[in-house]
Amino acid sequence: MLDLIIIGAGPAGITAAVYAARRNMSILVVTKDIGGQAAISGDVENYTGYQFITGPELAIKFQAHMSKYNIEIKENEEIIKIEKEGDLIRVTSDKGSYQAKTIIVASGKRSKKLNVPGEKEFKNRGLTYCATCDGPLFAQKEVAVIGGGNSSLDAAIQLMNIAKKVYIVNINSVVEGDAIMQEKLHGNDKVIILNNSQVEAVLGDKMVNGLRIKREGKQETLAVQGIFVEIGLIPNSEFAKILDRNEFGEIKINFHNQTNISGFFAAGDVTDVPEKQIIIACGEGSKACLSVFKYLATHKI
Ligand SMILES: Cc1cc2nc3c(=O)[nH]c(=O)nc-3n(C[C@H](O)[C@H](O)[C@H](O)COP(=O)(O)OP(=O)(O)OC[C@H]3O[C@@H](n4cnc5c(N)ncnc54)[C@H](O)[C@@H]3O)c2cc1C
Repeated sequence: MLDLIIIGAGPAGITAAVYAARRNMSILVVTKDIGGQAAISGDVENYTGYQFITGPELAIKFQAHMSKYNIEIKENEEIIKIEKEGDLIRVTSDKGSYQAKTIIVASGKRSKKLNVPGEKEFKNRGLTYCATCDGPLFAQKEVAVIGGGNSSLDAAIQLMNIAKKVYIVNINSVVEGDAIMQEKLHGNDKVIILNNSQVEAVLGDKMVNGLRIKREGKQETLAVQGIFVEIGLIPNSEFAKILDRNEFGEIKINFHNQTNISGFFAAGDVTDVPEKQIIIACGEGSKACLSVFKYLATHKI
């Protein structure tokens, strides 16, 4: 019988797994990938101890740390349901079914979709949700980044060193990302910010060749070959419907990372903890694991 199942191997899940292994708990990590959003973050300049590191490099370090312990990991597996089974917890994935005394849900977030014509058709044919992964494919091309927050600015910063021209298509009247990120873009004549602009359609033939927008009420077509969608994130919590979630779908937790159901814990971006950052997800993962440890010590299961 497993003490703990951890869902997700992003910063929160990996940190929880390291803490659990160091407490000699019997654990299983079930995850779609290793690294989570950290593996697709661009330049990370706010993870203490590393003044500068790229997201993929940090994710490799996390994975290397976890691999120092004897932790069973099931990768490329998607959880579709979690439920209470007597005193135990049943976790069902697309490949199997597992039982444990406790669970930490650390399934993070994923990109929101534009929901406009052409988006599905041209996904991975010029339209992408990951600048870090796909940016290098657009060397000397004209591209558009959709969104006006930090993720969008992060993508634009990466792309301005690769692409010929970078449009930032922002629905609001001002860009809202951090000032330090805006400064990095400032004065770069490759970057053109289009505020008050709504995406209407992704255009193309075999590959993307344009983006139709409505800017200040007027229709325009940008002749771009690449489109990077950076309009926000939604929590991966659909499989956790038995848990209390807020209006955004984030799992509600208390200071001890406990959910509304005994034995069910959650950590990181998938929760209603304010601020979504790598260092916060790591801290929450460790906190959740220590709470599980105390729970197991005080509950007879
Ligand atoms: C482009 C970008 C740039 C960023 N830049 C920074 C930055 O500079 N600094 C910073 O601190 N933060 C940054 N962030 C935010 C940071 O990456 C996240 O806050 C952090 O990764 C959250 O960690 P997490 O473990 O909670 O979730 P995630 O990293 O989202 O990991 C979730 C894990 O759960 C898995 N999973 C999801 N659903 C399922 C399922 N149904 N079944 C099984 N497994 C599942 C995923 O495969 C993944 O392994 C950035 C994010 C993005 C997208």
